[in-house]
Amino acid sequence: RTLLGIESSCDDTAAAVVRGRSVLSSVVAGQGGLHAAYGGVVPEIAARAHAETLDDVVRRALAEAGCGLADLDGVAVTAGPGLIGGVLAGVMTAKAIAAGTGLPLVGVNHLAGHALTPRLTDDLGYPYLMLLVSGGHCQFLVVHGPDAFDRLGGTIDDAPGEAFDKVARLLGLPQPGGPSVEAAARGGDPARFAFPRPLLDRPGCDLSFSGLKTAVLRERDRLVAAQRGLWRQDRADLCAGFQIAVRDVLAEKARRAIAIYLGSRPSAPALAVAGGVAANGPLRAALFSVADAAGLAFCAPPLALCTDNAAMIAYAGGELMALGRRDALDLAARPRWPLDTGAAPMLGHGR
Ligand code: ATP
Ligand code: FE
Repeated sequence: RTLLGIESSCDDTAAAVVRGRSVLSSVVAGQGGLHAAYGGVVPEIAARAHAETLDDVVRRALAEAGCGLADLDGVAVTAGPGLIGGVLAGVMTAKAIAAGTGLPLVGVNHLAGHALTPRLTDDLGYPYLMLLVSGGHCQFLVVHGPDAFDRLGGTIDDAPGEAFDKVARLLGLPQPGGPSVEAAARGGDPARFAFPRPLLDRPGCDLSFSGLKTAVLRERDRLVAAQRGLWRQDRADLCAGFQIAVRDVLAEKARRAIAIYLGSRPSAPALAVAGGVAANGPLRAALFSVADAAGLAFCAPPLALCTDNAAMIAYAGGELMALGRRDALDLAARPRWPLDTGAAPMLGHGR
């Protein structure tokens, strides 16, 4: 099966052609520059840019794949969750193609796209445990199938990616914050500042990151007041301390998610990660150790497929089509769309 995928839920306009598990093309057009002056993604600007770019991105994806519309078996599109204007732009493009060609249309949950990515890149059977860590989300999921997810826990406030971006902003480092904080942390002493490890005292695998971000702000202000500015070393130490705190919390909660999972099932699945924060070196290393110690395989897709892309949407759409899923031309764009639909077999865990 060959699918065209379309993704426009945040600030990347993306299209891809995927045949089975091979990515024939994956085009991602970022909008970073358009939003730089505003310190965050402006939904109206993003929506307009998607609408202007989508046709061209789709054309490029087809050309790079060496495909025409006649070679496709379906069109998959992110139908949510995300910034509604952008999602609508993508859904309308997909509907236009489906209406014009008669190809089947499949609406895909953006988070399901992230969560299924390890199956695109590795031989991974259902079920498996997934830590989805991105700019806007952080959750532990048991993935039972392309439309069956069981949420074990997640953040009660910020997502880690958001926290990395805020910390970078606080310290005057460039966006996106994850890579610049990771780079700055390389020369830093992670033990200089005692940053909190939020929610470790609470059972289960819920997480919190907003207090951590505030702690970095407090230390920065204290240093600035005491010495009228920040030295390069201060920045490095703040980044290192913050990054290690995020790593420690995610690693410990991953350990608990594995324990909850194994408590209710005998088989040992893999621990997979997806989302932009999964690019973080120290975090990947820590998660690998946690999985390894529990006897699980560790599966981390390459970075280009961890951050937003349309290959994951085309792939997820293919899995859904294989289950017989088709959407009509009245497919709705959904700003909110939780993955845990209750359709999944529930695990025997209490929270
Ligand atoms: P969502 O999927 O939740 O809507 P998103 O698609 O915007 O969010 P992604 O593209 O998956 O998020 O990831 C972007 C985030 O990943 C940014 O917050 C960025 O700072 C973070 N990130 C990227 N590289 C790293 C890194 N090396 N270390 C930590 N964080 C990183
Ligand atoms: Fe995303």
